[in-house]
Amino acid sequence: MKKTLLIDMDGVLAENDAKNFKSRKYDIGYFINKKPIPGAVEAFQKLTDKFDCHIVSTPVWGNPNCWSEKRLWVEKHLGSNAYKKLTLTHNKQQFKGDFIIDDTENYGVGDFEGEHIHFGQGEFKNWESVLSYLL
Ligand SMILES: [Mg+2]
Repeated sequence: MKKTLLIDMDGVLAENDAKNFKSRKYDIGYFINKKPIPGAVEAFQKLTDKFDCHIVSTPVWGNPNCWSEKRLWVEKHLGSNAYKKLTLTHNKQQFKGDFIIDDTENYGVGDFEGEHIHFGQGEFKNWESVLSYLL
């Protein structure tokens, strides 16, 4: 049986853009036009072969377009099989899984039951290092 892997979106699959986030998070088109993090698309395809992959992301609650744009972003970059794997939540802790790849401990990640792969930190600076750890 495949192990379960949860993957965050912003700052892990899609660019983080912390500089503009506050001023642009309500703009139509902001989320759909985010660029993928280098290596993320290829990594997702590789990880899907070995893990039961799910994308868990916290949307901007006051911007309903964010919800649909996240769904469209996943289809655009990861394909039509991937968007059914997307869950939008503010509490990632409630999900069962062996690993979560996330760039923060927010939204329940710090209390997640499995192993937190802290993307962008320490030994997990980029997708290359995450793949060599997991594959
Ligand atoms: Mg994130």
